[in-house]
Amino acid sequence: IERTLSIIKPDATRRNLTGKINAKFEDAGLRIIAQKRIQLTEAQAGKFYEVHKERPFYGELCEFMASAPVVVQVLEGENAIAKNREVMGATNPADAAPGTVRAEFAESVGENSVHGSDAPETAAEEIAFYFSGLELV
Ligand code: ATP
Ligand code: MG
Repeated sequence: IERTLSIIKPDATRRNLTGKINAKFEDAGLRIIAQKRIQLTEAQAGKFYEVHKERPFYGELCEFMASAPVVVQVLEGENAIAKNREVMGATNPADAAPGTVRAEFAESVGENSVHGSDAPETAAEEIAFYFSGLELV
């Protein structure tokens, strides 16, 4: 059984889409074992996305992530990392498969509704960034 870190991004929380997105995760067999709504500062978003620091969209991405509350969550299930990314769809909604979160809800390649960890090591780091061990049962 695997765990992954998911974020419902500001474009989606603004449009009140948390429940619809969570239903897609649950329908795919992912269990939401931890969840909270927080508002990131730009500095906190910058720390979370530090791997993208040199990318041209970094500043815009951090500003966007701090522009409204986000819902951070831990999803658990068999192959949770890959399964979550499948449900999310491609980064650019124009390339996302029908039925995926990004195909249905994302507004652009930047404002693309969800984040999901991309590997076991990053999942562990990203979960620890937002949650303490006591919050994970
Ligand atoms: P995430 O890491 O959020 O799950 P991802 O792995 O599909 O998404 P990455 O390449 O890791 O995509 O990029 C991280 C985030 O940076 C994207 O989800 C998106 O919000 C933003 N981003 C990526 N590419 C662009 C771009 N060309 N222009 C603007 N924003 C972008
Ligand atoms: Mg990524």
